[in-house]
Amino acid sequence: MHTRNFVAGRWAGGSDGRVYAVRNPADDSVVAEVPDSTADDARSAADAAHAAFRTWRAVPARQRAAILRRWYDLVLAQRETLGRLISTEQGKPIAEGRGEVDYAASYIAWFAEEAVRANGDVIPAPVPGRRMLAVKEPVGVVAVITPWNFPAAMIARKIAPALAAGCTVVAKPAEDTPLTSLALVALAAEAGVPPGVINIVTASRQRAPAVVDAWLADERVRKISFTGSTPVGRHLARESAATLKKLSLELGGNAPFIVFDDADLDAAVDGLMVAKFRNGGQTCVCPNRVYVQRGVHDVFVEKLARRVAALKVGPASRDDSQIGPMINARAVEKIARHVDDAVARGARVVVGGKRLRDAAAHGPNFYAPTVLVGATPAMALSCEETFGPVVPVYAFDTEDEVVALANDTPYGLAAYFYTQHMARAARVADALESGIVGINEGALASEAAPFGGVKASGYGREGSVHGLDDYLHLKYLCEGRLA
Ligand code: ADP
Repeated sequence: MHTRNFVAGRWAGGSDGRVYAVRNPADDSVVAEVPDSTADDARSAADAAHAAFRTWRAVPARQRAAILRRWYDLVLAQRETLGRLISTEQGKPIAEGRGEVDYAASYIAWFAEEAVRANGDVIPAPVPGRRMLAVKEPVGVVAVITPWNFPAAMIARKIAPALAAGCTVVAKPAEDTPLTSLALVALAAEAGVPPGVINIVTASRQRAPAVVDAWLADERVRKISFTGSTPVGRHLARESAATLKKLSLELGGNAPFIVFDDADLDAAVDGLMVAKFRNGGQTCVCPNRVYVQRGVHDVFVEKLARRVAALKVGPASRDDSQIGPMINARAVEKIARHVDDAVARGARVVVGGKRLRDAAAHGPNFYAPTVLVGATPAMALSCEETFGPVVPVYAFDTEDEVVALANDTPYGLAAYFYTQHMARAARVADALESGIVGINEGALASEAAPFGGVKASGYGREGSVHGLDDYLHLKYLCEGRLA
């Protein structure tokens, strides 16, 4: 297990020697201690990334691609170890831990393939004797800041395109889950990523701002790629204004999931189970509000409740667990607050609705998978992301009404709907204010698709043929006097 910072190709402690504990959320046991880094550590990382940029950008794309491909192979060769590490520090069931390794690796493979296709344009000149070109160049040093819910995938999906583009990286993983990121960086170095090209420093929640602020103030850092909450995203946008960094911000969501009365209800329940309960409901594309047309409401709720009641809750160390612990006490408190508020405002608990405190079977951070009916827009869980295994169901009557309700949020990351009516599918897909829309589908994630939001969910796209452009800028070359 790697438990130190990696800067300029060397593993090292933080500059003042302080460490903090990484805990297993299933039982709060200490898994490891890692550096609680300082602004000085952040600057050293930026020094190394800046120094490495000149040589890394000049490495032919084919060679960068080959290194990324070796990284991909090494990650997959460690699938079991990495999957268990993810589950240990983050809490997701082991099958999901393994699945996340595959998902993370898919981005590395994708950007190994894209690295060699950063083509520019030859532009027909409007005047004689000229040749006009648009070439793509790496933006420079990229600061990568990641959340805890996908400890491997978030790092891979930011670092792989950065390296493919010819950028170098300084990274700060989420305080709860630094170990997987450090393991991935170790494999990248083993794959041949030169010293200084990826630098990673860990920090506690208290010191994260100091580390990131050092990068915000540093004009050598030309881009930030961030996944996390909207308030922190806004802070990054504000504070990077002085040095005008390029930004990719993948922020919070409040995804609606709509079931029309012409939907295949079994397919809709399947889709909701996949979309909602992945990672215990702790993903930014998890449905947060489920709207069901009145005519099918009761049947849908009955089918859903049966499936939710059957979910097995337990630590990742048990192979049959389907819902693990929440990431920490703060997360469980938020979920309990949302459910209690909904009940106080008239919602009814159909399944779950409580913390699971039985110490023999569960640790301190478990919450029962929950279905609520009678949800209304006035409830806290309608406006904020719950980030837990809670399904609030709202009844609706008309298409116009539900589209207005779905869009009545500052956020716009993912949205889902189920219908078998073709024209309705086209209309609703068009009307939803969302970066990602699932139409009769609950599992949307793919390295081949552009991932990102609109409105308060941020901007920038990760993955797909568009993902590399976030790490490139266009340079216009005008060659004159050719005639
Ligand atoms: P979450 O609520 O899911 O933890 P955050 O936005 O708080 O989402 O955290 C996402 C990432 O942002 C983490 O790596 C965290 O350490 C970092 N972070 C949190 N607060 C700040 C801050 N004030 N400045 C810079 N980074 C921060």
